[in-house]
Amino acid sequence: KAKESGKNNFQYYKKKLSVNMHGRLNIEQALKGALKKDEIFLVYQPKYNIASKEIVGFETLARWENEKLGLIPPDKFITIAESTNDILEIGLFIFKKACIDFKDFREINTNLQTISINISTVQLYQDSFIKDIMNIIDEVGIEASSIILEITETHIMKNIFYSMRVLNELKTLGFSVSIDDFGTGYSSLNYLKQLPINELKIDKSFINDLPYDLNDVAISKAIISLSKNMGYVNVAEGIETTEQEEFLLSGGCEIGQGYLFCKPKIKDEIIQILRDKTP
Ligand code: C2E
Ligand code: MG
Ligand code: MG
Ligand code: MG
Repeated sequence: KAKESGKNNFQYYKKKLSVNMHGRLNIEQALKGALKKDEIFLVYQPKYNIASKEIVGFETLARWENEKLGLIPPDKFITIAESTNDILEIGLFIFKKACIDFKDFREINTNLQTISINISTVQLYQDSFIKDIMNIIDEVGIEASSIILEITETHIMKNIFYSMRVLNELKTLGFSVSIDDFGTGYSSLNYLKQLPINELKIDKSFINDLPYDLNDVAISKAIISLSKNMGYVNVAEGIETTEQEEFLLSGGCEIGQGYLFCKPKIKDEIIQILRDKTP
């Protein structure tokens, strides 16, 4: 009896697995055609100076909408694209489009400082990465100093010595680098101090329960003072409530992003927002 049900379990498991594999293969397949079919597009989330409420820049966030699969979240399709190396082509497409759009945004508001672009380490570790993005900024006509490359803490630490080398090269060329989702990886502070970075982004998971969770209060205060003392710009992501905003402002956090201020929006909507704000 037990044996029999064990066997059934196994069959159930096998079936479920093959459905998952099938689903994944479908997504991989569809993702291969996504650029050609114009299915990948970008949205931008404004970054605000928390004290003055001025927009200082934007974060570029990728979206993929497929006719059969619908809207697939970036956490999911970026991971798949990384495993198939399709992220190399998709990443350059995103980089170029973001540069072009940012130039248009800055034509409306000349005070805009930077465009942030998420970069996967599959891209960072590709030999031609720097040459490729240099070609793009030359072609588009934008300076490296307008671009912040966001790389997650976990990703950077995966191969700290290689990361250090590429990041140093990027710094020499004038790009800024931001450590994304800070606090969720396993940074050693000893490495952190050697990294040529400009910005730390406190992960949303530490912001969620501010100001009520005392551990999060302690952690976010510590990250803010760490980045101030090391000369980094401090950004809080995922701000949703005025309580969180007030806490961060009084704690000395300069820059914030979140639904409280603005959700990520397509280019035309961002242009509208900039026009409405510019006298
Ligand atoms: P991330 O870089 O940490 O981006 C922040 C995420 O938080 C975005 O999710 C954004 O829409 C969301 N968010 C911002 N404010 C709020 C808020 O107030 N409340 C809530 N609940 N969420 C908020 P999204 O767009 O789904 O992106 C998820 C992740 O996918 C990103 O995390 C990033 O790691 C990755 N990703 C997105 N676009 C790209 C890309 O172009 N390239 C690469 N390599 N990764 C990307
Ligand atoms: Mg990011
Ligand atoms: Mg982040
Ligand atoms: Mg995050």
